[in-house]
Amino acid sequence: MTETSGDRLQKVLSDIRKAEEEFGRKPGQTTLVAVSKTFAEEDIRPVLDAGQRVFGENRVQEAMGKWPGLRQEYEGIELHLIGPLQSNKAKEAVQTFDVIHTVDREKIAKALKTEMDKQDRHLPCFIEVNIGDEPQKAGISPRDTDAFVAFCRDEIGLNIMGLMCIPPVEDAPGPYFALLRKIAERNGLTQLSMGMSSDYATAVSFGATHVRVGSAIFGHRDYPA
Ligand SMILES: *Cc1c(COP(=O)(O)O)cnc(C)c1O
Repeated sequence: MTETSGDRLQKVLSDIRKAEEEFGRKPGQTTLVAVSKTFAEEDIRPVLDAGQRVFGENRVQEAMGKWPGLRQEYEGIELHLIGPLQSNKAKEAVQTFDVIHTVDREKIAKALKTEMDKQDRHLPCFIEVNIGDEPQKAGISPRDTDAFVAFCRDEIGLNIMGLMCIPPVEDAPGPYFALLRKIAERNGLTQLSMGMSSDYATAVSFGATHVRVGSAIFGHRDYPA
């Protein structure tokens, strides 16, 4: 029998539980964000039918096309924005998503705050840290993160839950996960969004509270996301 996305979901969930156990984390402490970018409603339904309710998308426009219908079919969906955000999409982002993982500059932080106040929807947010200081990557530099947390949380009043990162692909991720955790801890932040299909178990061992897993559940993506 061929493996279904529901089977793969169960495997990812059980890997997460095993890693929680092995590294002394409380069972169920890690939230699995199933990353459904590029996949259509008919690919997402089996994963919903298998019980998953927390999903991640990286494009506002794409999410607006797919999720309003699915929200009518299924209760309890929680949608996370994990991709870059432009300030002219802040309105749609706040309407469409429940959690934002990619706050990475003042302009976006302000635009989100304005929209959240307008819509009276005060979404939990993560600050995206460019943990390897890579020139091509989004995110705030580790050395600027303390000041940016203070700006977002204390100055403008965004609900900042934690930090998010994507480590450099060519390196072992552990030291980057450890660094993200250290920056979060010194800023009094408890949530860590880190770990993808290739390294989610490692991320759990370093204290991830949210892992963002796409291809290990949905399979190979045909189009670059
Ligand atoms: C696509 C994506 C993921 C999931 O990647 P996989 O390797 O398919 O698990 C996680 N985080 C972000 C920010 C992404 O864009």
